[in-house]
Amino acid sequence: MKAARAKTPRRPAPKKPSNPSLKDPVGVYCRVRPLSRPDQECCIEVINETTVQIHPPDGYRVFRNGEYRETQYSFKEVFGTLVIQKELFDVVAKPLVEDLIRGKNGLLFTYGVTGSGKTHTMTGSPGDGGLLPRCLDMIFNSIGPFQAKRFVFKLDEKNGVDVQCEVDALLERQKRDAMPVPKTPSGKRQIDPEFADMINVQDHCKVEEVDEDNVYSVFVSYIEIYNNYIYDLLEEAPFDPIKPKFLVFSPPLRPPQSKILREDQNHNMYVTGCTEVEVKSTEEAFEVFWRGQKKRRIANTQLNRESSRSHSVFIIKLAQAPLDADGDNVLQEKEQITLSQLSLVDLAGSERTNRTKAEGNRLREAGNINQSLMTLRTCIEVLRENQMYGTNKMVPYRDSKLTHLFKNYFDGEGKVRMIVCVNPKAEDYEESLQVMRFAEMTQEVEVARPVDKPLCGLTPGRRFRNQQSVSEMLLQSFPPLPSCELLDVNDDQTLPKLIEVLEKRHRLRQMLSEEFAKNVLTFKTMLQEFDSSVVSKENYIQGKLSEKEKIIAGQKMELERLEKKTKTLEYKIEILEKTATIYEEDKRNLQQELESKSQKLQRQASDKRRLEARLQGMVAETTMKWEKECNAPPVRLRHRRSRSAGERWVDHKPPSNLPTETVMQPHVPHAITVAAASEKALAKCDKYMLTHQELASDGEIETKLIKGDVFKTRGGGQAVQFTEIETLKQESPTGRKRRSSPSNPNPPEDAADAEWTDVETRCSVAVEMRAGSTLGPGYQHHAQPKRRKP
Ligand code: ADP
Ligand code: MG
Repeated sequence: MKAARAKTPRRPAPKKPSNPSLKDPVGVYCRVRPLSRPDQECCIEVINETTVQIHPPDGYRVFRNGEYRETQYSFKEVFGTLVIQKELFDVVAKPLVEDLIRGKNGLLFTYGVTGSGKTHTMTGSPGDGGLLPRCLDMIFNSIGPFQAKRFVFKLDEKNGVDVQCEVDALLERQKRDAMPVPKTPSGKRQIDPEFADMINVQDHCKVEEVDEDNVYSVFVSYIEIYNNYIYDLLEEAPFDPIKPKFLVFSPPLRPPQSKILREDQNHNMYVTGCTEVEVKSTEEAFEVFWRGQKKRRIANTQLNRESSRSHSVFIIKLAQAPLDADGDNVLQEKEQITLSQLSLVDLAGSERTNRTKAEGNRLREAGNINQSLMTLRTCIEVLRENQMYGTNKMVPYRDSKLTHLFKNYFDGEGKVRMIVCVNPKAEDYEESLQVMRFAEMTQEVEVARPVDKPLCGLTPGRRFRNQQSVSEMLLQSFPPLPSCELLDVNDDQTLPKLIEVLEKRHRLRQMLSEEFAKNVLTFKTMLQEFDSSVVSKENYIQGKLSEKEKIIAGQKMELERLEKKTKTLEYKIEILEKTATIYEEDKRNLQQELESKSQKLQRQASDKRRLEARLQGMVAETTMKWEKECNAPPVRLRHRRSRSAGERWVDHKPPSNLPTETVMQPHVPHAITVAAASEKALAKCDKYMLTHQELASDGEIETKLIKGDVFKTRGGGQAVQFTEIETLKQESPTGRKRRSSPSNPNPPEDAADAEWTDVETRCSVAVEMRAGSTLGPGYQHHAQPKRRKP
């Protein structure tokens, strides 16, 4: 909780710590003590349960302009003048005791100027015990019946704890008892009447849910930090006996030895060689505290010290370990022991000035005490800054024994609570302001929450399993028989006494037999219950068994079904395999057929080539025949017709020719078309063209134009000299690449859309009969692109 100041500007919201769930802020509470006298001027009012308001006393000028200003501070809880010790204990200290018993550490300190009620709050006064005796009372109320025998737990030199078996503990007890112990004249422990009232808190307060399967031991130690030295207030120094009351003059005290602080393996700080007393009751524990308190007083008087300048630290350590599996003895495992501690600190007065106007030695002491509280303030300040702003400044714990001792409460884990005590009197105004500011800062510091200890893993309820029965206890309490010897006739005492005892025994016997009968009955019912439970269990098991059998039968059926399915599938696979073999054979056969077909095709192609050659031979033969017919001597190219535009052609188209749809149809102007060789036609012309058709290898009709020049022979006949064979062919578009005609090297673009393409090839001078001649411009191809179906 953050302090709120009225009428003052708010500071920017501080950065929240990264993991708030595992950290708790230091719990800061405020207690306002009543004024000593009703006529005293008051400067502090309790506004509500969490807020106090502080204002400057009359005539106090806060600011130069004389402005009057009050300030409010908020705390986790504010306790007014009427709040009693118990109320304070319930709110502030009880949770710390609960934590202690659950194995977690706690620190509680009172802070304030001298006379503000720190000691009253912590220790209390006769008839009005403070937090310390109440804590002890609550601890022993809670663990009372589960305490270990003395010396079962042993604290070691390194802030740790050991466990030993009960026999060893007993031997150690006997050894200690044999040692001479200084005792009071009565031989009994005597509590100073001043404190006797304090422990009589009559609260019966206890922790709920104490682990009953654990055994517990409490150890207390009491130290004082004065002038930055640590003193063991329980140390039994050889020359420092508790001063007998009858001695008027006490022997001069040797200044006690200061103790050293060390860090244990868990990073907790501890005072080396400090006396730690095992205590078994509130009285015993408080007696130890009283012893330390007494010593402190003596030291203060004898060494001329100012008690308000020292810090007192009362440490309660609680060792606990689980009972073994039988619930009889404590488990002999060091790792299973939990040691927790609660430190109750009554700090020195926080005032900055020495109120008692001390001189010399005292002034120096005052300076030192201020120093350790100053360090506490600095540590809190740095811690707060580190946590809020993520800085990593070194916290100067080591600068004073006080802060060094409690280092791990802030750095490690635990619950830290502070009670700021204030006296509302006007004289304390300035000091009270300082106290409030420190308190405000402190509650912004966060401390890691202690984690729960893991459980030991043994079955709970071990302790009471082997508890004694009532009858056993009754037997032990059987009254002994008195002497029954009658020596005197007039003895009227012995017999009635005997009768009385016997009657008592009889009653006890009756009680026992009743108890026995009751137990028998209980046992019988238990047995019956057990029987019926066994029967019901049996039935249950039977039921389960038949259920399982049914399941198994179902699974068997399923198994059979699956087996059948597997068989069917195997059969199918066999068939498929066979089919595959057949298909493969088919494939092989088809491949063979394909091969033979392609061979056949090749053969046909070569046949065609042969045919062509034969045709050429035939043409030559025809020519020869004509030559013979004309009876001509070797041709003389006497007068060859001029190659003017007036050349005439004989267009010889045998009637067997088929009309083709070739795009490039030969077109010969002024030609005489004949169906068979005709002398008459030849005589009129000087050019000859035979159109010859045949089937190409691709199945298309191939048209060959065999051309030649016509000569007059001497005998008055005609001779043809073949000069060129032109081939016209149709070709599928998906077949070969289109070749353009030489007379039309740039075919129109839309010709590419034609599904069929004409192909023209030329073969120059296939047959030479007479003198060679070139083709005249007498004819030309039409190359008109035209779209048509294949
Ligand atoms: P401190 O330890 O802070 O110096 P004390 O506890 O010794 O102060 O208190 C000084 C005096 O005031 C004591 O006589 C004490 O009994 C009394 N006193 C302190 N607080 C209260 C309170 N809440 N109610 C009654 N008396 C108180
Ligand atoms: Mg005090």
